[in-house]
Amino acid sequence: MDLQNILKTYFGYDEFRNGQDKLIESIIEGRDALGIMPTGGGKSICYQLPAIALDGITIVISPLISLMKDQVDSLNELGINAAFINSTLDNGEFLQILEGIRANSYKIVYVAPERLNTDSFINLVKDIRISLVAVDEAHCISQWGHDFRPSYLEIPRFINSLKQRPAVAAFTATATKEIIKEIKRLIGLRNPIEVTTGFDRPNLYYQVLKVSNKSKFLIEYLNENFKTESGIVYCATRKSVESLVKILNDKGFSAVGYHGGMNSEERQNNQDEFILGNKRLIVATNAFGMGIDKPDVRFVIHYNMPKNMEAYYQEAGRAGRDGEKSDCILLYSASDIVKQKLMIQNDDIDPKRQEMLYKNLQYLVNYCNTNECLRNQILNYFDEDSANGKCKNCSNCIDSSEMIDITLEAQKILSCIYRVNQRYGANMVIQVLRGSKNKKVLEARLDNVSTYGIMKEYSDSAISEIIMTLVSSGYIHMTHDKYPVLKLTSKSADVLSGKTKLHHKKHLLQKKDEKEKASK
Ligand code: ADP
Repeated sequence: MDLQNILKTYFGYDEFRNGQDKLIESIIEGRDALGIMPTGGGKSICYQLPAIALDGITIVISPLISLMKDQVDSLNELGINAAFINSTLDNGEFLQILEGIRANSYKIVYVAPERLNTDSFINLVKDIRISLVAVDEAHCISQWGHDFRPSYLEIPRFINSLKQRPAVAAFTATATKEIIKEIKRLIGLRNPIEVTTGFDRPNLYYQVLKVSNKSKFLIEYLNENFKTESGIVYCATRKSVESLVKILNDKGFSAVGYHGGMNSEERQNNQDEFILGNKRLIVATNAFGMGIDKPDVRFVIHYNMPKNMEAYYQEAGRAGRDGEKSDCILLYSASDIVKQKLMIQNDDIDPKRQEMLYKNLQYLVNYCNTNECLRNQILNYFDEDSANGKCKNCSNCIDSSEMIDITLEAQKILSCIYRVNQRYGANMVIQVLRGSKNKKVLEARLDNVSTYGIMKEYSDSAISEIIMTLVSSGYIHMTHDKYPVLKLTSKSADVLSGKTKLHHKKHLLQKKDEKEKASK
């Protein structure tokens, strides 16, 4: 049967999607492969179809234990004999599956990475014809990624234990250049065909919002836009998941929670309720979502900022897998940066990695503070560009809010950073600009610098807002460590000399007294 025929007969599709045919053909020829496709791009078929076409068994290594049963059930329904091995099996079931493998009854066997190198499994498969090893969610092998699974590092040992090395194919939806390098090196891919279909998800609308009352916003947003549709709300902590579920249910929305502190039965139950559509909202920590195939998620709202762009892209990308228009909204607040930094500090890891985590976090903070096209910021992170840098489908591209000239304010801030010898962080710079009598300012004699008190009439938050915008557009460099220090960059001189004019959204920059008046 030719490939097109298999696609139609087993999966019911007429055409391959971008990249699928190239990967599938190479894998069937026995070549290693690396497929980088966005969520919903159709990675599964890239190993399921070769599994059907090839003699022997395909082993699929996947971290998604909770989904294996569903995947295997649907393959069996399609007439493709499949099984899975993971910690949910009891010993009897495990032995039965080993027996099935020995008798050549399966085309595809999903295996959790922890199970790969158990004696019984290795002893069995070393004599069996394995035609393909597919590594799903391959970024889990990288310590730099956000889903590192140490057991993924065991994959090469498993492959090496096989009598004949099969083709090895790795798949991921999210990978920066460094992670791609690591995937190839650590899995030991040999001259793989590499297919990247691009990271753009044109049906997703990206928005960043700075709102003071997040739950109020959420309730209004749901009432105005989505009365019946499904969506995910991501929160940073278990506690905020619990309290938001309560708020939403009290307001009459059907919501369930999902976090690592719940027992697995409750988690599974809530996940099922959401996927089946019995509950239309799921409020979750980042424990929720990898591999979830719910096509009609109309919005993903981040109540808190996640730890980096990759995590954001992955989580937001769970919206609109069916290709329909969907919203990805990030509710930004500066306190979320503090939370993320605390987590980095508490992580007991080497300083180099820590610096990398701060840097990755900063990229996302910049995303939240930029006035440029948001889609382009995302694509740039993955070394891609959107057409002419304006997508017209993100909150910055369609923003009609009034912009004001902030060149003078920027000059004052940059001068102050220079006057304090580029040795202090944002808080101190703000204190100096506002002429604070704070003990630390006085002790360091910063009340003597010429920029002391030159922005008295501005609120802390307005100055901080401008600083963050300047950081996001590269006019200030913020060091990547526990106590980030503000420094000038090669671009700062153009602002100081007046050659470059800068603008920012007026409503984000109310002066101190206006703000006080407004709150009275
Ligand atoms: P992911 O890349 O996120 O693993 P999946 O493999 O789950 O994506 O595929 C996403 C959806 O796209 C599934 O519902 C799948 O059946 C569908 N799909 C995959 N390939 C095709 C195709 N060639 N034509 C139409 N639909 C496809």
